[in-house]
Amino acid sequence: MPLTEFEFPILQHFLCVVESRTGMPAQPLDATPEQRARAGEPPQQQDGGSPKQLPKGVVLGPDGKPCRSCTSVASWRAMIRDKSTQPKTISTTQPPATAITSLQPPADCPPDVDQLGRSTWTLLHSMTATYPEKPSFTQQSETRQFMTLFGKMYPCWSCADDFRAWMKEGNEPKVSNRDEFGRWMCEAHNAVNVKLGKESFDCNRWQERWRTGWKDGRCD
Ligand SMILES: Cc1cc2nc3c(=O)[nH]c(=O)nc-3n(C[C@H](O)[C@H](O)[C@H](O)COP(=O)(O)OP(=O)(O)OC[C@H]3O[C@@H](n4cnc5c(N)ncnc54)[C@H](O)[C@@H]3O)c2cc1C
Repeated sequence: MPLTEFEFPILQHFLCVVESRTGMPAQPLDATPEQRARAGEPPQQQDGGSPKQLPKGVVLGPDGKPCRSCTSVASWRAMIRDKSTQPKTISTTQPPATAITSLQPPADCPPDVDQLGRSTWTLLHSMTATYPEKPSFTQQSETRQFMTLFGKMYPCWSCADDFRAWMKEGNEPKVSNRDEFGRWMCEAHNAVNVKLGKESFDCNRWQERWRTGWKDGRCD
């Protein structure tokens, strides 16, 4: 998207001044691939051709290329299908039949946004389950640092952006004891559940789910 199409009145004003002073039409700048990705725009074609339409749900990475860990397997496959219906010049390999026919790709494929999310929540909630009841000052400080770095490094960049924003909105990690950290993580997970239109989890039961097993004994 050209910058002139963004809602920056001051930039529009600047371009008008340039034009009136120089008599030359101001040349708008193009957004960088990262700006395009954040605005949900498709990447620009290198050859100057028209931008390619991507299936709904395919999220682009900061490099302007589709981001697998930000996209569901269904959208990813729709994109691959679109590509495979276009004429190919070289075709040396075929994906295994199971990768096309089964709902989920084989377990040894790169994760989509859901698989990555499930694995990550398992790690994060398990960390809270083994967190000390009386953590030292150093443990608390390192845990806060971990969550800050996690918010920067989570592979789904759009998820990470929202997660950092949520932490900034008065939801800084609460780490003074195990139960507090576990509940904070549960609330963090619920914030994502709400965003995705899923049911909220009862945070009074976080220990049953992630530490002790359910009271009905089905995990024993
Ligand atoms: C930090 C982060 C941000 C994410 N942001 C996005 C995003 O923006 N868009 C997107 O599409 N996906 C996002 N995800 C992935 C998303 O949260 C889910 O992991 C994914 O949609 C798969 O969901 P699921 O229904 O299989 O269960 P998950 O939500 O992965 O949950 C796994 C299990 O945890 C338990 N559980 C559920 N809620 C709670 C809770 N509040 N507390 C404790 N336990 C709970 C349940 O038993 C559930 O089966 C994010 C993941 C993470 C870690």
